[in-house]
Amino acid sequence: MSDTIAVRPIRLSQRCLKVAPSASLSVEARIGEMRAAGEPVISFGVGEPDFPTPQPVKEAGLEAINQNITKYTPVGGTVALRKAIGAQLKTETGLTFSPSQITVTNGAKEALYLAFQALCDAGDEVIVPAPYWVSYLEQIKLADATPVVIPTSTKTDFKVTPAMLEAVTTPRSRVFILNSPSNPTGMVYTQAELEGLAEWARTNQVLIFTDEIYDKVLYQDDYPRWLNVAPDLADRTIVINGMSKTYSMTGWRIGYAAGPESAIRAMAKIQSHSTSHPASVSQHAALKAYTTDLQSEVATMVAAFRQRRDWIVEALNQIEGVHCLMPQGAFYVFPDFSGVLGRPLKNGTICNTTAELAEYVLDQVKVGIIHGEAFGAPGYARLSYALSLEKIQEGVGRLKEALSAPARS
Ligand code: PLP
Repeated sequence: MSDTIAVRPIRLSQRCLKVAPSASLSVEARIGEMRAAGEPVISFGVGEPDFPTPQPVKEAGLEAINQNITKYTPVGGTVALRKAIGAQLKTETGLTFSPSQITVTNGAKEALYLAFQALCDAGDEVIVPAPYWVSYLEQIKLADATPVVIPTSTKTDFKVTPAMLEAVTTPRSRVFILNSPSNPTGMVYTQAELEGLAEWARTNQVLIFTDEIYDKVLYQDDYPRWLNVAPDLADRTIVINGMSKTYSMTGWRIGYAAGPESAIRAMAKIQSHSTSHPASVSQHAALKAYTTDLQSEVATMVAAFRQRRDWIVEALNQIEGVHCLMPQGAFYVFPDFSGVLGRPLKNGTICNTTAELAEYVLDQVKVGIIHGEAFGAPGYARLSYALSLEKIQEGVGRLKEALSAPARS
């Protein structure tokens, strides 16, 4: 008998079949295979800071292991950690969040997942501005809700306006997802823009999920925060945030949701039957991060990102047919590549979509970019600049070469 598992079809659930795999993770997987085969790939696909976790946080992780802080914690995290998050939220929003209004999750991703599961029913509509972060759509579908996508473009700096929201609002509208700074565009809503959105939100019963995971990766002094603009809507706002991006802690898996107690309790109920809580070691490290002054570590990281952002935006705009806005936050650029579609490139290839373009540049010059289709925005692509300036320069140089017109014979 063979020791490999027989290839027999297994019936998969309808729930699973309606979900698409994460495009960014698939591109990264292909890049991983190419690298393993010795190919010199430069990936602009990365969705995490290329900095180490700050030293005091790493030490707290080790301390947790050595002090046997390695057992179950309460569902939704230790009270000490939830209190520390509450203190941070108080500084940021001026509002008081008690531990029962916060649940700590395995990354912000789980916080969002639980929020959709706990608060959406079949037939509920979730308003998602595009370009959107890839998991929103799939998580909405997993909750049997219906995504209502609002396309945006460079014309509105990839932001939605109250009129755009009004046009899609129905009695079934249940949630509006706000993501500022945005993945994939890096755009940040201004105070005035948020005030407009709040006016719209006040005229209906929609819940607001404000995903603020990039709130500390900012290239401007102020961060207009939803709950500062609309504290009166705190009773139907779920704040989503976490450690992953700010403290370069993607692998520790610490995120949280904060909001009205009934909603958080419902989320924690589902959590209690699924993951219970993030690892106790990670929670201990997270507590250290929230109770230590890490501003200089964060500032060093953001300064490096700023330098790379300035370079990459200028360099991309020098490529014929490419147009790139200057992001105010996160570590992504989202250039418009429509000017290079439909015309012969370097080796005569014609790409008609950015999905084809991403394949072409990966094959031809070993550069990984994520096609805009994955973010609901054909014609664009996402490039992360969470890699060294040298690699960025090399990668953009290769991209420029691949996108150049064929040599005349
Ligand atoms: N929200 C946005 C907009 C993101 O870009 C990400 C990660 O890329 C997440 C949430 C999830 O973050 P985490 O790694 O904490 O689960």
